[in-house]
Amino acid sequence: MANDTNRFLAIISHSKEYGFIFPSSEIYDGLAAVYDYGQWGSELKKNIKDHWWKSMTQMQENIVGIDAAIFMHPTTWKASGHVDNFNDPMIDNKDSKKRYRVDHLIEGYVDKLKADGKTEEGEAIIEVMEALIAQDDFAGLKKLIEDHKIKCAISETSNWTDIRQFNLMFATEFGSTASADDADNKVYLRPETAQGIFVNFLNVQKTGRMKVPFGIAQIGKAFRNEIVARQFIFRMREFEQMEMQFFIRPGTEGQWYEYWKTERMKWHQDLGIPAEKYRFHDHVKLAHYAKAACDIEFEFPIGFKEVEGIHSRGDFDLTQHQQFSKKKLQYFDNDLDESTGKPIGNYIPYVVETSIGLDRMFLLVMSNSYREEELGTPEKPDTRVVLQFPPKLAPIKLAILPLTKKDGLPEIARAIMNDCKSEFKCFYEEKDTIGKRYRRMDALGTPFCITVDHQSKEDNTVTIRYRDNMQQERIPISDVKQMIAKQIR
Ligand code: ATP
Repeated sequence: MANDTNRFLAIISHSKEYGFIFPSSEIYDGLAAVYDYGQWGSELKKNIKDHWWKSMTQMQENIVGIDAAIFMHPTTWKASGHVDNFNDPMIDNKDSKKRYRVDHLIEGYVDKLKADGKTEEGEAIIEVMEALIAQDDFAGLKKLIEDHKIKCAISETSNWTDIRQFNLMFATEFGSTASADDADNKVYLRPETAQGIFVNFLNVQKTGRMKVPFGIAQIGKAFRNEIVARQFIFRMREFEQMEMQFFIRPGTEGQWYEYWKTERMKWHQDLGIPAEKYRFHDHVKLAHYAKAACDIEFEFPIGFKEVEGIHSRGDFDLTQHQQFSKKKLQYFDNDLDESTGKPIGNYIPYVVETSIGLDRMFLLVMSNSYREEELGTPEKPDTRVVLQFPPKLAPIKLAILPLTKKDGLPEIARAIMNDCKSEFKCFYEEKDTIGKRYRRMDALGTPFCITVDHQSKEDNTVTIRYRDNMQQERIPISDVKQMIAKQIR
């Protein structure tokens, strides 16, 4: 098995070689931190999306979904705080001219300390760093970098500039004559999908006759001009979020925050991903909108990292939009107040949100599924690469493989394909030896293969081969569709 760095590199190259992910516009040498999903990547991504959407909307009576536009009125981002606050502290190395996000620079240094067995020293540095970030103490952060003689990976010097803030939003202009500097025409590519939900809060509440507590879910693209954009699809400039804003009665936020923490962790583990690969990380520095916040972290090959955030946002967003738009964004609660016996009346609901990166979830599923297995014997060694995707997420559910291209076997295989393809994604292949075809399906994460052979003509059975344990058994052709449909449910 590859070590962790090699494992990460192996996952990246496997993703490209097998049509999951390509660098964007690769024939022009790519575009930093932008990626395209290929034929199997887009299937896997869609399956993750569908699974999240179903569990958030279809399975919840009080959550509905929307699909808001990427462009929003520019005042949205004034109200949300993104124009003034969506910044990251950055530092430049004067010799290499390379720019670093301060927390990433320090974390990279700490990772090296930990690799050298100096875990306690590393953790103490992180604690100091988090306290300094919480106070926006840039002089203190620079001193921390200097005191530990943290170096730039390229120039290998500690010749640093002062720390400055950089806004992460992309701007463009609306209309044909304006320039991007023209404040009236400047629009932003949304840096998060949440604001599309907040500005539609009343539309949905009224037209959907929703009663607090209720949620609005959305999946969509978001854009951030990440300064340090590396680590493959972990940190992209164009990515997708799956967010849900849950509107609640003020005073109930503690209980709903805990509820959604539990629910979301359960969602992850219900996919069969081991619990020990997950942990919660409470935020020390709260974002400008947050009352409480934590991340669900997963142990990627690059270490424990955030995949999802759960945030108790209070009434910050709706209050801000009410103030900037001068439109009332209140809810009338006609439940009776226990003490007065009268309707509770008008209030601005509080919000607990769950926000997960679709691309990060994709990387999580890939990282958890990728295996390099030693097979065979010492005399005849053999290896295989297999993606052990949860069957419901696998891009291809069933491969249908006639043993030979003749003797009527392709016709039987095609008939099975025609019977199954409206239910789930099937793949038909007759080229190469059966062993090679199995290996290719392992590498694509296909959980089931069936082989049609000469016996199939006699007794209407096929061999089913299971990806994970490579066991095979004969089953009647008439059972195939139902059996696979049951397994992927
Ligand atoms: P980070 O600290 O990693 O920059 P964040 O705390 O800014 O992330 P949020 O604003 O809470 O992230 O966004 C919610 C989710 O969106 C994150 O948990 C992550 O899965 C995803 N996400 C955020 N930024 C990116 C990005 N640049 N590329 C891919 N996914 C991202």
